[in-house]
Amino acid sequence: MPSHLRILGCSGGIGKNLRTTSLLLDDDVLIDAGTGVGDLSLDQMVKIDTIFLTHSHLDHIVSVPLLIDSVGARRDKPICVFGLPATIAALQQHIFNNVIWPDFSKIPSAERPFLKLFTLNLGDVLTVGTRQITVLPASHSVAAVGYAITTEQSTLAFTGDSGPCPAFWDALQTLPGLKHLIIETSFTDKDHVLADLSSHYCPLSLSQSFQPIDPAVQLWISHLKPGQAEQIMSELNRSERLAKKAPKALIAGQVLVF
Ligand SMILES: [Zn+2]
Ligand SMILES: [Zn+2]
Repeated sequence: MPSHLRILGCSGGIGKNLRTTSLLLDDDVLIDAGTGVGDLSLDQMVKIDTIFLTHSHLDHIVSVPLLIDSVGARRDKPICVFGLPATIAALQQHIFNNVIWPDFSKIPSAERPFLKLFTLNLGDVLTVGTRQITVLPASHSVAAVGYAITTEQSTLAFTGDSGPCPAFWDALQTLPGLKHLIIETSFTDKDHVLADLSSHYCPLSLSQSFQPIDPAVQLWISHLKPGQAEQIMSELNRSERLAKKAPKALIAGQVLVF
């Protein structure tokens, strides 16, 4: 059976119809938990068992504490949240610290909590039902990873938030049957200094980093800054290397099948 990745949010910011990064895999796994999670019904939210976080930035984690508070008591098992050790430590220290939000890893009891936190490492491959999740390298201003999801049919890969990262492109070569590749491009070329400073891509740095991939792979662009999406996409399509790949802007509500 193919898997479905529903794009709940993929913007670099908020605004009318814009949601931050959150991707729903089938009905039970979230990749990041940005503001897009808030569009799900309670019944849909209850079904989420596992969350894989790319990094600790607010636009990717903001719905973790709110989701757990909304559905924890309706579930019969904890929501399991996975991330790098630094990401999990940041959640414990800065979110579930009984100041910003209650420590749901001990509520209602330490034996049967609403939330369980787990660490993962680069290169790990985790099996979740029929899907394999591979932890991919990323290069960002905090510890960060990307993820690949492999089904019996094919693979979808996602950079998370990242600037140029040669190891990501090396890792892509090892994935079986790559069908969809989601790459962030946060800034226009005019803001290339900001892109470099914050370890995000702009069209120029993406075209310089881009490594050849199978022509059949569909390239999707995410994390576009609000109000700059058209400009970023037109700059990407002006790059000879990237235009060949016909990159498309990812939009909330879209479903990728693989
Ligand atoms: Zn970030
Ligand atoms: Zn982000």
